[in-house]
Amino acid sequence: MQPILELIEVSKKYGKNEVVHPITMQLQKGHIYGLIGPNGAGKTTIMKMIAGLTANTSGEIRAFGSSMWGKGSVENRNRMSFMVETPYLDGSMTARQNMQYIRYVRGVADESRIDEVLDYVGLSDTGKKKVSKFSLGMRQRLGIGMALLSSPELMVLDEPVNGLDPEGIVDVRNMLRKLCHEREMTILISSHLLSELSELCTDFAIINHGSLVDWLSREELMEKCRSYIAVKTDNISETVACLEQKLDISEYKLVSGDELRIYERLDEVELVSRTITDSGFTITKFTTEGESLEEYYLSRVD
Ligand code: ADP
Repeated sequence: MQPILELIEVSKKYGKNEVVHPITMQLQKGHIYGLIGPNGAGKTTIMKMIAGLTANTSGEIRAFGSSMWGKGSVENRNRMSFMVETPYLDGSMTARQNMQYIRYVRGVADESRIDEVLDYVGLSDTGKKKVSKFSLGMRQRLGIGMALLSSPELMVLDEPVNGLDPEGIVDVRNMLRKLCHEREMTILISSHLLSELSELCTDFAIINHGSLVDWLSREELMEKCRSYIAVKTDNISETVACLEQKLDISEYKLVSGDELRIYERLDEVELVSRTITDSGFTITKFTTEGESLEEYYLSRVD
């Protein structure tokens, strides 16, 4: 399938300092990509290059199959929206007036789209309230609403949940998930905390010191972060058969031919070990292993 967005060996230097080393990645339709990395890792710079707010030093950025700045690029750029760094909002205006302004700037013909989007982001009842009186969560939702106004196929959002309370994070997450499901939108979203995005994204790109250090699907991430009981015995295949029969285990995996990983009964480890020894096997390894999401992330960055 043709990628929605492609970065091919894209790098960025400020003076002599290469803050983004050559990065290659492909975004596919309908996925939500989390760009995760500590502060200063290069996330905003990558997003600014995609948004055309700063030029890439080398490499190529392609959208919808053609070069970002080549022929047909204007039409293609109209299929994308960006909220990079703080969304531009005029505090002296209402949510609707801010939307109206963006509608003119982006040339969105259909005025009724404003109400549709305000409703979508949960701001339809803010009436005459000036944006300067909005909470951070409301501002973020308005920023996302402004990015949504032109019905983009690709949305790039820089730290949209930064500083939001847990409830605000859930709101934004639900909204983005809905967009992805209902409209097959592709979203690239950044955060310095994996935990903020772990439930939302379908794919994760972990950035550290300007390099892409990990690129994995949600399933791969969950697999890496799943806790399990690691068991070795003097006869692992018979141990497996015994546990299947006596404890009805089904969520397990044999790795390297001699280690059994059991992903269930983690709160009954004594029962598992007793069942093995009572069946006459000698245990040579029995530990609980696995990392939390945050532990895994921290092991990839510094
Ligand atoms: P992140 O978004 O992951 O926090 P940034 O992309 O903002 O990271 O920054 C990456 C690196 O680039 C940082 O070391 C930052 O100091 C540097 N940087 C960002 N913008 C500029 C700039 N305009 N001039 C020089 N250095 C910059």
